[in-house]
Amino acid sequence: MHRFFVRPEAIGGDEVVLQKQAHQIRDVLRLKAGEHIVVLDDEGFEYETDLTAVSRGEVKGKIVEKREASGEPDVQITLYQSMLAREKFEWVLQKCTEVGVTRFVPVISTRTLMRSCGIKANKLARWRRIIQEAAEQSHRGKLPDLSPPTAFDKAIDDIEGSKRSLIASPEAGGENLRDCLKGYDGSRGVALFVGPEGGFTKEEVQRCAERGAVAFSLGKRILRTETAAVMASGLILYELGELEG
Ligand code: SAM
Repeated sequence: MHRFFVRPEAIGGDEVVLQKQAHQIRDVLRLKAGEHIVVLDDEGFEYETDLTAVSRGEVKGKIVEKREASGEPDVQITLYQSMLAREKFEWVLQKCTEVGVTRFVPVISTRTLMRSCGIKANKLARWRRIIQEAAEQSHRGKLPDLSPPTAFDKAIDDIEGSKRSLIASPEAGGENLRDCLKGYDGSRGVALFVGPEGGFTKEEVQRCAERGAVAFSLGKRILRTETAAVMASGLILYELGELEG
């Protein structure tokens, strides 16, 4: 069944009215009245819906069942991802949404190729679309949040003592993720920092550590940064019991 995030005002009683997705439903997917879709309210609930009217610019449906969306993790990971080349960054947004990241903060660090935090509105909108499509596909119940690009110095201000903050650093001789997360129930979330292609500088790792972040290793092999982001997010969720069937 096709899944669509809608604005809260699209749902009224047992009726749903979709306008933004009308073209996709009618002309691309060629769905007709009588067929079923799932509508997501971005608050963790999904609504199985029978289409009642499909026309140009507007689709209406009747809700037949409301239930909690099953794909939303309890543990909230914020991924502080150093900016990468366009396709790689978009790949990280897509795959980490599927895996279960809750918030993305693109970071400008010393070795990122992109030097400015300024970004065109259409690029942010494109990134949000990628996240939305991945969230719909992977049965998430809430759309991961996306912050505008943020300077490393500002991003590390977010590291709070009570939240578990981790920085992926192959050179720091760090702990493995299992040891980093031992005894932690995940309830205050996890802040995960992943470096750019050239890695974090020693000083950056040091400054994160001074604020309470723990440097961790993903083993002896050096991974591409996008691989590290997906793998670390998945392993954190696994260690915190979020990948049960
Ligand atoms: N020579 C660079 C360095 O030592 O940082 C390699 C950078 S690696 C290609 C890009 C990013 O992916 C790193 O900054 C780190 O965040 C993450 N990463 C890659 N392999 C890793 C590993 N084995 N352990 C921890 N982090 C890793």
